[in-house]
This record gives sequence, C-alpha cells and structure tokens, in this order.
Amino acid sequence: MFDLTEEQLMVRDMCRGFAEKNLREQAVEIDKTHRFPLETTRMLGELGIMGVVYSEEYGGAGMDYLCYAIAVEEISRVCASSGVIVSAHNSLCLSPIYYFGTEEQKKKYVPKLAKGEHIGAFAITEPMAGSDSGGTKTMAVKDGSSYILNGSKNFITNGEYADVHVTLAVTDKDGKKNKNTSFFIIEKTDPGFKVGKVEEKLGICASSTTEMVYEDCKIPEDRMLGKPGEGFAIAMHTLDGGRVGIAAQALGIAQAALDAAAAYANEREQFGAPIGKLQAIQWMIADMATEIEAARLLVYKAADILQKNGKNRRPASKYAAMAKLYASECAHRCAHKCIQIHGGYGYVKEYVAERLYRDARITEIYEGTSEIQRLVVAMSVLGEYAK
Ligand SMILES: Cc1cc2nc3c(=O)[nH]c(=O)nc-3n(C[C@H](O)[C@H](O)[C@H](O)COP(=O)(O)OP(=O)(O)OC[C@H]3O[C@@H](n4cnc5c(N)ncnc54)[C@H](O)[C@@H]3O)c2cc1C
Repeated sequence: MFDLTEEQLMVRDMCRGFAEKNLREQAVEIDKTHRFPLETTRMLGELGIMGVVYSEEYGGAGMDYLCYAIAVEEISRVCASSGVIVSAHNSLCLSPIYYFGTEEQKKKYVPKLAKGEHIGAFAITEPMAGSDSGGTKTMAVKDGSSYILNGSKNFITNGEYADVHVTLAVTDKDGKKNKNTSFFIIEKTDPGFKVGKVEEKLGICASSTTEMVYEDCKIPEDRMLGKPGEGFAIAMHTLDGGRVGIAAQALGIAQAALDAAAAYANEREQFGAPIGKLQAIQWMIADMATEIEAARLLVYKAADILQKNGKNRRPASKYAAMAKLYASECAHRCAHKCIQIHGGYGYVKEYVAERLYRDARITEIYEGTSEIQRLVVAMSVLGEYAK
C-alpha cells in the first residue's frame, strides 16, 4: 500500500538532505539557547514545506498528506522543535483558513503563510479549557461591524512569532456547549491583542509556547471563519489533521532514537565486544525497530485517509487518533531505550539521547493527550459495533 510515489520519495530525500545540512548542528544550539529558528521557516517556505498540501493557486505546494507527514517526520528526526513549528503552522493555522475561509480570507492569508513569509498559530487551550475545549471562556461580542474579544489562551505553539493566528471564542453565551463558539483570524497588530507569558519547557525548547491575551481586542466581523456556532466543529476538524502532523513528529523522534541507539550499540565495547552483541541490547533494538515500522504504517495510513477524503475528516478521525496515540507512545519507549543503551552517556547532553527523551514527552500531551486519543478511538469503535 505504501510504495511511495516519485513525489513522496523526492520530498523525503529533499527534507532528509535539508535537515542533515541545515538542522543537525543547529538543533543542538537552539535546544540550548531556546532560540526560535525563524530563518529555518523561511528556507522551508522556499521549498514548499510551509504549505505542503495547499493548492498552488493559493501559494501552496499542492502535494498530498503523505508528503506532508514524510516532511514532518524527516525534519523531526533531526530537530523536533522545527518539526512542531512546521506542523502547527501547516495543519493548525493554514488548515482552518483553507477549508473554512471565504475566498477573500483565503486570498489574504493563505499565500503568505504557505510560502513561509508569515508564521501561523492555533489557539484553543485556556487555563480552564484544556482537554475540554468546550469549556472556552474567551468571549467575542458583536459591536456594529466588529467583534470585541476578551480572554486569554495559553500554551500556544509559535505564539510569539505568529503573524496570524486562529482563535476560538464564545459568541453565544447562552448557547449549548460546543455550539456556542466561533473561530476568528487574529493578526498580530490587531488592537488589544498581545503575547503574554512565554513558557520555559522540558523539551522542544526552540519552539515558542506562549499565552495569547485579548483585552478589548477589536477585529472586523469578516475575520470570522465559517459561521457563528461552528467554532468547536472547526477546531475538531483541524485537530484531526494536526494529529497526523504530531504523529509524524513522534515517528521522526522514534527513528532518531533508533538511529542513535543502533550506531552506539555497534560502537561501544564492554566485556571485550560491542554491546550490540549482547542479547539484552538486541532485544531493545528489535522492539524499537518493530514498533517504528508499525507506527510508520499507522501514520502513513492516517495521512492517506486524510488525502482520500478531502475536507471530510470524519473517516480520518479514528486513524489520526490511533496514529498519534501509537506513534507518541512509541517515541517515548524508543527514547527511553535509547538512553538505556547509551548507559551513563545517554544521560548527559553530549549525546542526542537525552534531548530525544525530553522532546518525545510532549507528543503524548499536545493536540489531545493519549487519554483523549483513546477516548476518540473507543467512541469510534464502539459506534461501529452499535450499528
Ligand atoms: C508545549 C505545548 C504546546 C502546545 N501547543 C498548543 C497550541 O498550539 N494550541 C493550543 O490550543 N494548545 C496547545 N497546547 C495545549 C495542549 O493541547 C493541552 O495542554 C492538552 O490538550 C491538555 O490540556 P491540559 O494541559 O489542560 O490538561 P487537562 O485537560 O487538565 O488534563 C490533565 C489530565 O487529565 C486527563 N484527562 C482530562 N480529561 C480526560 C478525559 N475526559 N478522560 C480521561 N482523561 C482525561 C488528561 O489526559 C491529563 O492526563 C500545548 C501544550 C504544550 C505543553
């Protein structure tokens, strides 16, 4: 099923080459300094990687979702911070504008984002609305031909550097949960908007994670995406695509852990022979390689289903959740084993193993925790049996 097409192979080779040349050393530096690699996003924009699946008419590369997953995998294999920057930009900010925007909105925002001239972000999480985004408190009140937003979002990827972001706000305070919110496009220069607290994190340290604050933030009414009350549905649609991006990020981290562990096992000698000759080490390598293959099949399958169903994400929800759940937990296990195979050297910063372990952890949390992915899968499976 997954004999890659010429285009998919080309994207894999291009992103692999790009990452080795431009990101290998930089990944160490930006992990240490927490510097957001803006120049990388501009270069990736020139290669079409900041708008992989969006049509050329709007400045995108017009490639398929498998190309997108492969691009995120290859970038994350070398630099997981860059991987999430690309993923959040492509599948969380561009996607809702592309699929739910009016022609005017698409023409105004998509080309600059897709070419990497602008950075995008997606803001639904709030202090009281994490896994339960139906608990959104940010309000958007109609005022003539404008909306006035008040509230805040936290933990927003790319927040500090986002020229444009999409945000979820309550537009009907008496409405039913999950039917009372709408989605809006916010520009960084909008009056009343500011970036708040910048988080210090365990991993993906070069990605930006910030609070977004709206204090009487006034935007024109034509910034609403979709119709009033469609906000929650748009957010869920967007996350189905986003989860494939994060699954691909996790896959790249897992592959990097195997790359490092296998090379080390062949090199490091104890008791007069390479540790790779020890069965205890071989079993860890075998488990890592097997799980990575399984994760790759799930991720590519989810990407393929996204591609085949266009805007209709319903068939992809279960597979996107499965792919993210499995690939993220696989990344965690592989990064853990990578440290174990390195012994004490796995625990110090001179080797990549400790960064992979820190970077892998977040993939089990953002865009829905593993518990939420299990919930999505279970609801879908039980529904199939109830028919
Ligand atoms: C580095 C980083 C980047 C992020 N980027 C973004 C971003 O770009 N945009 C954005 O909007 N958000 C972003 N987030 C937020 C992220 O998606 C949330 O942190 C995540 O969805 C979990 O929400 P929470 O932290 O409030 O945890 P909570 O929802 O409070 O969950 C706490 C625990 O309870 C469990 N739990 C909650 N509900 C259930 C349930 N129904 N069943 C079983 N278990 C449950 C969770 O699995 C978890 O173990 C980011 C977070 C981080 C840390």
